[in-house]
Amino acid sequence: MKRYCFLLTAILVILVNSNVCGQKTLAITIDDIPNTRLCSENSFHSKLLSIIDENKLPVTIFINEGLLYKNQNVEENFSLLNQWVKSENVTLGNHTFSHPWYSQSSIDTFMLDVIKGETISRELAQLYDKELKYFRFPFNDLGKDSIQQMEVKTRLASLNYTISPFTIESSDWMFNFLYEYYLKKENFEEATKIGEAYYEITLEAFSYFDSLSIVQYGRNIPQIYLCHDNAINADYLNQILEELQQRNYELVSLDEVMKDDVYHQENTYYKKWGISWIYRWMEYKEERKSAMMGEPDIMEYYRLYEKLSQE
Ligand SMILES: [Zn+2]
Repeated sequence: MKRYCFLLTAILVILVNSNVCGQKTLAITIDDIPNTRLCSENSFHSKLLSIIDENKLPVTIFINEGLLYKNQNVEENFSLLNQWVKSENVTLGNHTFSHPWYSQSSIDTFMLDVIKGETISRELAQLYDKELKYFRFPFNDLGKDSIQQMEVKTRLASLNYTISPFTIESSDWMFNFLYEYYLKKENFEEATKIGEAYYEITLEAFSYFDSLSIVQYGRNIPQIYLCHDNAINADYLNQILEELQQRNYELVSLDEVMKDDVYHQENTYYKKWGISWIYRWMEYKEERKSAMMGEPDIMEYYRLYEKLSQE
């Protein structure tokens, strides 16, 4: 039985990677904007934003306004956020002010953080005639149980926010930690190895979630990739997207992806962990658990991250 499942998955991955399954669509979403720490080292410009603009890549950003005050250069940080919002390739989303775990907050404290997090973004959105309609939970923590989840859903809806899901992520934050660690040590060989591993694992994750999509829905559902503005994406995201375009992916806006019926399904996962919406839409716990086992194995890098982040 196990062997049969493995073969079936292998065949699906081959089918998914070939053009047999036709056109696929993908929205890129970038969290924790603006990265005021990284960009202060690059004259307060985001290298990733330059790549987005040069290649006209449609992206949605999720802003933490608290990051504007994380260092002394508040004025420059504002200008950095302004550059993001101004870009015609960028759709806007709120990601709270201070990036709390919702499951550890009261609803009122959390909602105050949501509202505090839109102060500057709303002004900028108005200036550039844009909407601020998406919301992404920090850590994708939607609440510890169904009651907490329902409460926040109602409150966000009353502010006209649409909760942004994601379907694919590949722990870019962890690979980025390792990448920056080696770059700082000027160990470029190890940094490149980490960058290449991120590239490979991200593409494997796409193959895996596409195969799950075929199993669950019999077609390629539009995917949403979650990543961050960081050094590893500045150096590798474009290469990843080029390969995905070879695999017949078309980059589209989050608005476009969200029109698909799959995104109108109920999320039946009532725990705090930030898992993919493909798992959240599954009906049974066992089904979810066994599907999660098939993700690319990143344990080797996670162990290294745990070790090096203690230093
Ligand atoms: Zn975040």
